[in-house]
Amino acid sequence: MHDYQQAIGEQTALLMKVHTSNYQINGFTGCVSESALATLAQRHGLVLVADLGSGSLIDLTAYGLPAEPMPQQLIADGVDLISFSGDKLLGGPQAGIIVGKRALIARLQQHPLKRALRADKITLAALDATLALYQQPELLAQQLPTLNKLTRSQHILAEQAQRLLPALRAHFCAGWQVNAEPCLSQIGSGSLPVDRLPGYALTFMPTANGDSSLHALAAQLRQREIPVIGRLHNGKLWLDLRCLENEALFLETMLAPDSAP
Ligand SMILES: *Cc1c(COP(=O)(O)O)cnc(C)c1O
Repeated sequence: MHDYQQAIGEQTALLMKVHTSNYQINGFTGCVSESALATLAQRHGLVLVADLGSGSLIDLTAYGLPAEPMPQQLIADGVDLISFSGDKLLGGPQAGIIVGKRALIARLQQHPLKRALRADKITLAALDATLALYQQPELLAQQLPTLNKLTRSQHILAEQAQRLLPALRAHFCAGWQVNAEPCLSQIGSGSLPVDRLPGYALTFMPTANGDSSLHALAAQLRQREIPVIGRLHNGKLWLDLRCLENEALFLETMLAPDSAP
């Protein structure tokens, strides 16, 4: 709080807080709450802006996911303008969204840069369709692809792994040990940088030539018509199943002729 207070001078136009959506600072750190900043901004007649980066319109903890700040909460805390992305946890198209006080939004609308930065019709249509899904919160986890993938349980992913395993074991019988193993998946994309979701992966461990076999397999799978992108970790290639929808297509790709090196 002291840092913000000290920095305010004659030239100050606004106070801004940017959410650490891509990283986390650990150790002896602190941060100032939005409501405390709102009080400070008001006292100095300044506008308070918060960039949430991702933000979430729904309470993610209700879905068993880690908490992410919500724009509506920040409005209630007294923040004047809040920016967040359309294509992170919101699950829509790449777009920057600004919400807040009507008079400030009107000023932004009049700014010459607004025309250069305005969203095109396709973006608006996709954003509109995404936001419409939020009007039926009870169906959101089913209908919004981002939330659907984030909420797939470890149990469901383990079942999927077991379904896929026999065909892969049969195909990779020479030189590979194929298994289904629990894993932790990073959410990434500028939201929840350190939280990991428990899931399941198919793992491929070479029985000989460790690293060179692994790199060869990873490269081969990446070069498929539909690339299969895994992660090398602990002497194995990991294929995280969190976002796998089309099992038949996945198997077809994995079992393509050159895939058993
Ligand atoms: C991702 C991010 C942005 C940019 O969001 P867009 O998706 O480009 O609209 C801005 N600020 C922070 C803190 C972010 O994490």
